[in-house]
Amino acid sequence: MKTIIEPFRIKSVEPIKMTSRAQREQYLKDAHYNLFSLPSDDVLIDLLTDSGTSSMSAAQWAGMMIGDESYAGSPSYGRFEEAVKNLMPFKHVMPTHQGRAAERILFSVVTKAGDFIPSNTHFDTTRANIEAGKAVAVDLVIEEGKDPASEHPFKGNMDTDKLTAFIAEKGAENIPICMMTITNNSGGGQPVSMANLRAVSDICKGHGIPFFIDACRFAENAWFIKMREDGYADASIPDIVREIFSLADGATMSAKKDALVNMGGWLALNDDTWEEQCRNVLILTEGFPTYGGLSGRDLEAIAIGLEEVVDEDYLKYRMASTAYVGDRLIEAGVPIMRPVGGHAIYIDARAFLPHIPPLEYPGQSLACELYLRGGIRGCEIGTVMFGQQPDGSEAPAAMDLVRLAIPRRVYTESHMLYVLEVILETWENRDSLRGMKIDWQPQALRHFTSKFSYTDTKSKKEAA
Ligand SMILES: *Cc1c(COP(=O)(O)O)cnc(C)c1O
Repeated sequence: MKTIIEPFRIKSVEPIKMTSRAQREQYLKDAHYNLFSLPSDDVLIDLLTDSGTSSMSAAQWAGMMIGDESYAGSPSYGRFEEAVKNLMPFKHVMPTHQGRAAERILFSVVTKAGDFIPSNTHFDTTRANIEAGKAVAVDLVIEEGKDPASEHPFKGNMDTDKLTAFIAEKGAENIPICMMTITNNSGGGQPVSMANLRAVSDICKGHGIPFFIDACRFAENAWFIKMREDGYADASIPDIVREIFSLADGATMSAKKDALVNMGGWLALNDDTWEEQCRNVLILTEGFPTYGGLSGRDLEAIAIGLEEVVDEDYLKYRMASTAYVGDRLIEAGVPIMRPVGGHAIYIDARAFLPHIPPLEYPGQSLACELYLRGGIRGCEIGTVMFGQQPDGSEAPAAMDLVRLAIPRRVYTESHMLYVLEVILETWENRDSLRGMKIDWQPQALRHFTSKFSYTDTKSKKEAA
């Protein structure tokens, strides 16, 4: 087996500013130990998110020059529509400025107060858009999907027994659509199998409930189906993708993920009545239907990105670089969520730092340490993000994770090796990490703006 190499060479480079530990200590202190407050110039390897952070190809940049900015009937829309329908064969496609705009338009049309929308796991913007209309978002992922150590190959699957029972309990008339997120972002980037998509689609059909897909990482999900599901080893990625979407009645998409662009999204669906209603909201809030919330050049870049993202060499390289880091961490005994998902590595900070109680934010402490040691920026997904209760009190989140999300086509193998080294060095020195406290927090969504400092509690090393 030879090394899996990046299937591209680099024509345009973006320098990274090298920083010393002493500099990073100052920068982090100035940011009150909140990584969202750091200027990104002061970050060496930025793994805060894979959303909107992709590198575009030379072909995409060239495509932007032929973008047609006509208000109505732009040929760029034609190319965008054709590229979307080639993979997702729905009747209508509406461009939006990003994924959540597609969600808002869809839910404002299809739901009314008191309705229920089941999914494997709703992404947070999806849930918020459902709840904004006083409907109820329900997560029905399989039990294995909630167990960080389970090696189930499709941990993003929906529990079909639970779905059937849920429909019986609430009544199909109160469920305007059913959704499925591929891959399951909030559940660790875990994939959904074709068999499960088909089973859910069949259950929905049986009850006359339209089935929608949150399609953000559709190509990565198709790659996992090809690798892990019986009968798909020889199928092409575009064929697998078309089979997935042939099971659905519509989709919402954030082009900031698997369309390889920095901004954009769309809503696709088959139903003519819903299309007309959605189109009216689109015109009111995003723009004329042939550009939606985007420029003509953005539509060109998406059309080309959709061809590039289903390229097997690209997907093989992307998944290999995530799995390489993940597998080495598992070998070294570092607790991470398993199996390694598509777009990110999730470190189990609670298991990494058992001497730091959840209410002293082990995830925040670990994320800060990765920055101090190596200039790496990850994201705490744990008690800082979810621990704040509506009544102002605080409770530990279900898990304390640090997510390292890998931007598409941005970092090379040596960058990933460096990330691995920094995590392993932190693992060896884990006893020296201390808990943290919040000195100031806002009323809601505190992870973005809270100010932190270290607690006075001694680290395990100091106590010994
Ligand atoms: C990013 C994301 C969204 C929302 O898309 P935006 O472009 O950020 O508005 C919805 N669902 C999933 C699964 C996502 O990852």
